[in-house]
Amino acid sequence: MQRGRARQYALCTIAVGYDRVSDGVEGVFDQAVTNGLAAIVAHAWPGRERGRRGVLSASDLLTVIEEHGEAAEPGVVHVLHDPAGPKYESAPWGVLNERIANFTTVRATALRGALRATQAIRHARDTGERPDTALTAEQVRALEELDTHPALGSVMEELRDRQEVAVPAADRAEQERATDYLHLLDDQEIERRAALDYTARYRPFHKDDETTVEDCPVCGNVSLVAEHRDGLLGAVGVGQCVVCSYRRTAEAANDQALTQQIQRAVKHPD
Ligand SMILES: [Zn+2]
Repeated sequence: MQRGRARQYALCTIAVGYDRVSDGVEGVFDQAVTNGLAAIVAHAWPGRERGRRGVLSASDLLTVIEEHGEAAEPGVVHVLHDPAGPKYESAPWGVLNERIANFTTVRATALRGALRATQAIRHARDTGERPDTALTAEQVRALEELDTHPALGSVMEELRDRQEVAVPAADRAEQERATDYLHLLDDQEIERRAALDYTARYRPFHKDDETTVEDCPVCGNVSLVAEHRDGLLGAVGVGQCVVCSYRRTAEAANDQALTQQIQRAVKHPD
């Protein structure tokens, strides 16, 4: 149940904050707030997230948090992650004055404002009026801030998972695009391009120039001109192929470097 709430919260928060969904954003926002607050209340005060008619509304969940949480500045409540533990812990890496908050900041006033705004937008749509209210950046931040609670912490995880799928998919699409482009060229032109010495042509011009020319995974020529390399191993080039136009992005290079590193670790587990 708690994992389901965390996932709903993460997907809806990403839709609002990162994907910039605009159609129906008010419904998605409500769903994110309700699931996020229900997970927090169920973790901090088990059972209080429910009323006689099931899980409380976002607004009622905020009331529970205001009643049981620790009042901070006006309109802001702190929910302690471990009521028996200290409010702050010093950072394990020992940075001076660096403290880790052992609580989640719930900006009740901002979230209530957002709930009112989304209801206004919904009402306007039902009556065919133009909605004159929109979610503010502050309200979206208040939603994202809930993610620091241990019952959630799911937004970053979800974004990482998405990145793992999205980056290789984008690279495959780019390879297909370059392959299609290559098919447009006649054999003579392909031979002419393949015969050129790109390593000589694109050699570094000065001592800080890190340009290298590498094998292209699409056309197979030594023609991928890389001005720099991945940030992990410094082995996978970021750049573009002169023959087929395939472009390897920094994200794709980093992703491939990570895969290489994992494969090496599997082969040599010491
Ligand atoms: Zn190529």
